[in-house]
Amino acid sequence: MNSLNKEGEVSGLVLSVIEYKDRDGIVKLAKEDEIVSVFARGIQIPSSKNARLCQPYSKVTLEYDPKYSRDMLYLIKGTLDYSSAHVQDDLEIQTLCQIISQLIEYRGINPAIYRHLEKMWLKFDGSDRNGGFLQAAYLLAELCRKEGIEPYVKSCVECGRTDQIEALDFSAGGLVCKEHRPAQVKPWPKKRMQQLVALIRSKGAHEDYLEDNFNWDAPWILLMLDWISWHLDLQLPSIEFFRTVSHMK
Ligand SMILES: [Zn+2]
Repeated sequence: MNSLNKEGEVSGLVLSVIEYKDRDGIVKLAKEDEIVSVFARGIQIPSSKNARLCQPYSKVTLEYDPKYSRDMLYLIKGTLDYSSAHVQDDLEIQTLCQIISQLIEYRGINPAIYRHLEKMWLKFDGSDRNGGFLQAAYLLAELCRKEGIEPYVKSCVECGRTDQIEALDFSAGGLVCKEHRPAQVKPWPKKRMQQLVALIRSKGAHEDYLEDNFNWDAPWILLMLDWISWHLDLQLPSIEFFRTVSHMK
């Protein structure tokens, strides 16, 4: 898709926009395999024609001036392919989308993450919470894979046995059996374990099966976010805010 862009043109998903000085803005745009910064002049001015291109959770095609584009692309004009504006109607969903944009900006993107990001926005925009949370879970699982911190789910990570699996142990890096479960890690319900195994093993596929057979919600996303934060040693205040907001539901 991106390879079809002409010289001086780029398509992608708007992750975030920050205001720059009094009039301008900087857009973080996700392409399938990289994130680019776009300098958008004058978008804080009410009459700006380009302001509508600089809204998070939308897909845009932008024309930039190659002459002035080094570290940042210099926006000339563009078209809005779609905007998932309803993401911003729900504080919980909006917070989650912000966290995911932040994680992608920190850690980078690949085509699988791009695909789940786009689908997640569209599902949430259409008020499909279960479908949107599943895409978020896929995306976070893919991020784990990319970072080499995917939970080990084939057997007990300590001894290799496949029966009597009882919980996910963060410090061991995967599932643990009855014998290897530390006392402070509570045993998981069987269904929860099956759901984790299905998510990790699916590698982003079998969407209908995962959507129909399991319930995807904020606690699942928090589990994945906690796993990522723990293993990458990240502390994002927005994750704590998401926890608070989702507990209020
Ligand atoms: Zn074991």
